Amino acid sequence: MSATEQISIRVEPTKQSRLSQVDFNNLKFGQIMSDHMLVANYDKGQWTDVAIVPYGDLTLSPSMSALHYGQAIFEGIKGYKFADGTVSIFRPDKNWERFNKSADRLQMPEVPEAIFMDGLKKLLDVDRNWIPSIEGTALYIRPFMFATEAALGVHPSVSYKFIIITCPVGAYYSKPISLKVETHYTRAAEGGVGFSKNAGNYALSLYPTQLANNEGYDQIMWTDANEHKYIEEAGTANLIFRIGDTIITPHGDTILHGVTRRTIMELASEWGYKAEQRKVSVQELIEGIKAGTVTEAFAAGTAATITHIDRIGFEGEDYTLPPVEGREFSLKVLAYLNDLRYGKSEDTHGWNLIVK
Ligand SMILES: *Cc1c(COP(=O)(O)O)cnc(C)c1O
Repeated sequence: MSATEQISIRVEPTKQSRLSQVDFNNLKFGQIMSDHMLVANYDKGQWTDVAIVPYGDLTLSPSMSALHYGQAIFEGIKGYKFADGTVSIFRPDKNWERFNKSADRLQMPEVPEAIFMDGLKKLLDVDRNWIPSIEGTALYIRPFMFATEAALGVHPSVSYKFIIITCPVGAYYSKPISLKVETHYTRAAEGGVGFSKNAGNYALSLYPTQLANNEGYDQIMWTDANEHKYIEEAGTANLIFRIGDTIITPHGDTILHGVTRRTIMELASEWGYKAEQRKVSVQELIEGIKAGTVTEAFAAGTAATITHIDRIGFEGEDYTLPPVEGREFSLKVLAYLNDLRYGKSEDTHGWNLIVK
């Protein structure tokens, strides 16, 4: 099947919507899923049975290879509803591209546009009543794929499931966070899978994150595997710093190339800042904080867009960043993206995919 081939997506509507049971003023992230999910099966080189069906449990084999050998990848996207009811998805084409890069690295099949992109639009159309419209809220969209071959033995699975589930999420007011610079444990090494959104990258982060939590930090600032000298990213978000009038983000194959990071860097250069993707050493950051040239530091990702950083711990010392009120660039980015995503400003970049 070619990427451009038309695939028909069957829709089996739920007989019993759960919508009326949901308290939209009290949404906990990732707890309540919308009525429907998209499911597609891959077997021996073919995608088959693409369907939007009622959300529910799956029957799977205990010898399913994803559970043993970890061929499992995912994405995170947000859909928004404008005041006039228009449904929009923020830059999902970038997630589709990244998903297929993750798939390639883990020897999994690519998901064609007719399933990923068309399926996404159709699913949001079917469940449009699940998309909250109060500013700050969104529909979180989770596409994922895993190996389903029911056999032990390390080899690429012959069969896979691709699924999209969604859940409404409330306004996300993130408090500033503290980060501990990690100088022992490693998230990703060169030549590894750091750039891919595969399930294993999150399992390995849990233990070192717990240790950082025990020391009073919210999250880890990962550093490079070779020397623990260069900054990589934080937990499940990318890092961006403002040093003088330059907006800087670490770069390389050991970090996940976030859509939010990319968007913010594009805005930075458009707005006349110097925007650099390059290595940033822990030393450059710490010295900059001490000298007062590091005026902004934040984590960037789909969940919260921007999470300000207020404290960084390195080798037993804490370094405090300037107050959030004065963070001109990141506050401007947040206001800009907020207006854009709820259709309150003109989409000059074509970043909103409108669901007809
Ligand atoms: C998903 C993710 C990000 C952020 O990517 P976005 O596309 O902006 O959501 C950053 N780092 C890691 C490790 C991630 O998993």
